Amino acid sequence: MNMKTKIKKSLKDEKLYKNLKTFASAYKQSKANAYEGLDFEAMKAEMNSLKGLTRKRGEDLFEEFTKNACKNGAKVYRADTGEDACAYIARICKEKGIKSIVKSKSMTSEEIHLNDYLEKEGIKPVETDLGEWILQLAHEHPSHMVMPAIHKTRDQVAELFEKALGGKVDKEDIEAMVKIARKELRSEYFEAGAGLTGANAAVASTGTIGIVTNECNARLSASLPPVHFVLMGYEKLVPDFETALKLIRMLPKSATGQKISTYVTWIKGQNESFKSDNNTKETHYIFLDNGRLPFLEHPILSEALKCMRCGSCANICPAYEMVGGHVFGHVYIGAIGLIMTAMFHGDENAKDILKMCIGCRACSSNCPSGIDLQKIIAELNIYSGKKYGLGFGRKFLYSSVMSRPDLFKNVMGIGRIFAKPLVKDGSIKSIPMAGERNFRELPSIAEKTFTEIYQDRDKTSENTGKKVFFYQGCAVEYFYPQMGVALVELLERKGYQVDVPEKSVCCGLPALHGGDGEGGKKTIEKNLAMMKNPEDYDAYIVLCPSCGFAVKDDFLHHMSENPDMYKKAEKISKKVISLANFLEKEGVKISAESAEKVTYHSPCHQKRGLGTNAEELLKGIFGDNFVPLTDADVCCGFGGSWSVDFPGMSKGILGKKIENIEATGADIVLTDCPGCVIQIKGGIDKYGRKQKVMHLAEMIKGL
Ligand code: SF4
Ligand code: SF4
Repeated sequence: MNMKTKIKKSLKDEKLYKNLKTFASAYKQSKANAYEGLDFEAMKAEMNSLKGLTRKRGEDLFEEFTKNACKNGAKVYRADTGEDACAYIARICKEKGIKSIVKSKSMTSEEIHLNDYLEKEGIKPVETDLGEWILQLAHEHPSHMVMPAIHKTRDQVAELFEKALGGKVDKEDIEAMVKIARKELRSEYFEAGAGLTGANAAVASTGTIGIVTNECNARLSASLPPVHFVLMGYEKLVPDFETALKLIRMLPKSATGQKISTYVTWIKGQNESFKSDNNTKETHYIFLDNGRLPFLEHPILSEALKCMRCGSCANICPAYEMVGGHVFGHVYIGAIGLIMTAMFHGDENAKDILKMCIGCRACSSNCPSGIDLQKIIAELNIYSGKKYGLGFGRKFLYSSVMSRPDLFKNVMGIGRIFAKPLVKDGSIKSIPMAGERNFRELPSIAEKTFTEIYQDRDKTSENTGKKVFFYQGCAVEYFYPQMGVALVELLERKGYQVDVPEKSVCCGLPALHGGDGEGGKKTIEKNLAMMKNPEDYDAYIVLCPSCGFAVKDDFLHHMSENPDMYKKAEKISKKVISLANFLEKEGVKISAESAEKVTYHSPCHQKRGLGTNAEELLKGIFGDNFVPLTDADVCCGFGGSWSVDFPGMSKGILGKKIENIEATGADIVLTDCPGCVIQIKGGIDKYGRKQKVMHLAEMIKGL
């Protein structure tokens, strides 16, 4: 089944939609409670540095771990590949006549397809984590790293138990279902010749492993059978207990929103075993490479090996929430799953799923290991675009049209003429043949561009010597010039000289996000040439935080090999600011009397890119008439061309946003991104809702 078909199938699955939506809302609150009183940002920065391994450091820690583990009677094996690890486990089992292995949850064993291997060798793997066991009965794979069966409802589990185990199962009685699992699994622990677990940390200074679970199944798997295999990647190595405890302190909070998990098991080499002849358990620590060690040298992908497998990057991902892990992932799922698919299962398997990322950066800001997942996904997308191509149309658009201001303007002008018959009351209600892409109304292309209006305007006041540069971006230039005009009028009235680029150039984000690194770079160079001398300006103000984040971050990153351009980009980067933040910083007084209720949607790259949020400013302006929006900073589902490529997912994410807006009872929805206005206004108008949707520049222009 190809990706588009899989997406359509998942979007029709109402039970999946309900399960993921319910979990996502509950998770956010539980996580916030779990971290209450703690400094998450400081903790994640520390974890990022603690988890950083170079190849040399990894080898040193491995040597230290091995020395201590062997002292404690354990055996340590280095498996170069998945096949190597599988073969080692199977060989030991055969030597000892082991016919079955009880397993606790191990994504590493999923990575190497251990169960399939063992079954082929005549060894029965028995999953003992409840979710994994359910999936084993259903012949399915995990759709989440921590809650593998999150896609299944209790009704489905009851039906599965009836079919697989016989007897009547009460769909309402979860406790009874858990008892069934416990009864079925308990005898397996005693019959198994070996147990297999993963490890959440491998402490080099003592040769100890730590395992975190909620079901005690890892402890039983590790302690009852006479042989214990521990399968783990080198990235689980930590120097000491202090580091391991810091990790274990964060893991449950980010994974399930629990302050602490139910069981933390520490195993230091050999233990007693009542089932072995010499009363001693045999312990094998298997360190899996499978490509990890060379990645420790990689300037970008080494970051991904800091992952502590909490699953949080799936829990908060709006795209994952729409389709689940069987679509948004391969073996590993969620944001880290897209990356690990490329690392461990080949870019052929990753190239399509990488495109499903909308770029909202929720994963990057939530990751307890401080991994900037979205940036890595964007890099992999560019790599994949270069290797597999983008298609002629896209390549032409990014590299030949969007990077050339005059040509782009002409194309938009032609587009306006062709679209004219479709425009009614200022917007395009639907486009013939666009099918499911007609899930929202679209703005018409404006008669005059922002630059034309700016050049023709009468200045409203004299400036006081303060100069700012306004970077308008394509959406303001071609669709919403009134937003730019509002900003210019407001700032000129407050005494600022407002300069703009001579010609409007796309910021390059569509090309970069679309996988065209070369087209993106060309566009950035054009922009930097148009952006005048950064020394002359107090600020570079943006009305679109996505453009702002591109100027602040992508310009620097993609100009790293061009020293002159880099220097200019660096100076500009320090001065990029949103309008709301600029007004607050400058102490510009704004007040309003509004009888209407106002709410605010926070764009993805506002808080998680520019690091600002207009909520406080708006509370100050509108007082009691400001009503907060639930999940205000969750993506609206726009993502530029993403919403055209994935209309079903975009519509679903937008639907949730509109539901939350309705719940506020607000008359006006404010946001500070023209892209979010396109999406939210388009949806609200399409479904005949009454709220006005505005950019905050338009709302506060006369205040
Ligand atoms: S990448 Fe970060 S958020 Fe995702 S599973 Fe790993 S540690 Fe958790
Ligand atoms: S950037 Fe957003 S859409 Fe992309 S993987 Fe991260 S959370 Fe998901």
